[in-house]
Amino acid sequence: MMENRKTTPSGGIKSALKPPGTDETKSKAGRAQYRVGNGYDVHALAKGLPLIICGVKVEHSKGCIAHSDGDTPLHALCDALLGALALGDIGKHFPDKSEEFRGIDSKVLLSRTYGMVKDSGYTLVNADITIVLQSPKIAPYIDQMREVVASVLGCDVSCISVKATTSENLGFTGREEGISAFATVLLFHSI
Ligand SMILES: [Zn+2]
Repeated sequence: MMENRKTTPSGGIKSALKPPGTDETKSKAGRAQYRVGNGYDVHALAKGLPLIICGVKVEHSKGCIAHSDGDTPLHALCDALLGALALGDIGKHFPDKSEEFRGIDSKVLLSRTYGMVKDSGYTLVNADITIVLQSPKIAPYIDQMREVVASVLGCDVSCISVKATTSENLGFTGREEGISAFATVLLFHSI
């Protein structure tokens, strides 16, 4: 059956599996049509610092120790975007030794990172972010976080997933010593 399907003229199953807007699974530049990336980041928490998560200030007694504003999931998202195109990592592009980035709003880092992605001819299909934090509960902030990330990336909020979990009181996140975040992105070559 598969042999017959392969020889099916235009409109058959082969066409149905092609990405939208292209004739081939590779672009003219020879780049892959789709690229996937993942990112991971950790920050220690300390009392008296602001807790910024996906661009939203979360009310809490602790915040991230960081050279920037310590927005852990946005850093993971930057690494996922860079990783998808094998462009290195956030530390390479925005070194934490640089005064330029001291206290910087991580939305700026994300915007600059996505600029590199777009300059390479790629557009975000979707992003999925998981935040690991014992407390406080951030469910009330999730929709606002999705909107902030979508606005920075200029995409629909439906393309941005933000999820939160605890580590069941285990490990450094469970002891409320830190926050970690994972991000996965899919990019589409749009040129
Ligand atoms: Zn970070």
